[in-house]
Amino acid sequence: MPELPEMEAWRRQLDEPVAAFPIAKAGPAHIATLKTFDPPPAALEGRRLRGAERRGKRLLFPTIDGELVVLVHLMTAGRLRYVPAGEKSPKTPAFALEFQGGAKLVLTENAKKKRAGVWILTPEGAAAELAHLGPEADELDAPRLGEIVRNESRRLHALLRDQRLIAGIGRAWANEILHAAKLSPYALSSDLDDGEVARLAAAIRSELERGLALREAGASDEKTYRVHRRLGEPCHACGTPLAQIDFEEHTIFYCPTCQTGGRVLKDRRMSRLLR
Ligand SMILES: [Zn+2]
Repeated sequence: MPELPEMEAWRRQLDEPVAAFPIAKAGPAHIATLKTFDPPPAALEGRRLRGAERRGKRLLFPTIDGELVVLVHLMTAGRLRYVPAGEKSPKTPAFALEFQGGAKLVLTENAKKKRAGVWILTPEGAAAELAHLGPEADELDAPRLGEIVRNESRRLHALLRDQRLIAGIGRAWANEILHAAKLSPYALSSDLDDGEVARLAAAIRSELERGLALREAGASDEKTYRVHRRLGEPCHACGTPLAQIDFEEHTIFYCPTCQTGGRVLKDRRMSRLLR
């Protein structure tokens, strides 16, 4: 799933082109993708977008007249593309906006189950839709992060991914961040001392910045991730083979030497079954 660095790179790329021309046609929209029916897509036609904004992993396209907002959540398989005028666009988009002059903003989702979503909202509706989100991950400082981790006693990997607490991080960047912070994905947030909180805050910033710079340069997953999905490869910091552990439907990747004091984490579901 695209996370903050990926979505921010997208936002920067889309910001100017989507504002260049008014919308000529909104739709087609897949029935599972368009989550709202009032205002209808046609309400966008003739209006111009102000640009692209981002909140957590969602993109927002407000109209310049301040009356409507198109909100997009790509989930795992959604992809958003700007197709310049005259270029071939996908035949069966999940959602499309066509601009005057012929360029298109096209959402596709190559998956059986459609999970990506488009909402057409008033600014108040958009604010309500986003109200549950925590602060932006790339704007967190150590004192604010300290409040968040002490309020909840959660495994760090799960806490970082909880959008209500911190917006923008998913499982891939949680792996990268915890490795950079040299913290165990299983450590309890309430056990962190001030030094560890400061290290985690610094790692969130530096890893998301690293990710954004790479994604803006068009880097692939292989070039971007140093820990995520690299089971058995040598840790870039110490050379130990990276390990993985299943936790809450996710696979966590980590370095036993850098993060868990040499301990290999046990699959808790598995050990419970075997007990
Ligand atoms: Zn290591």
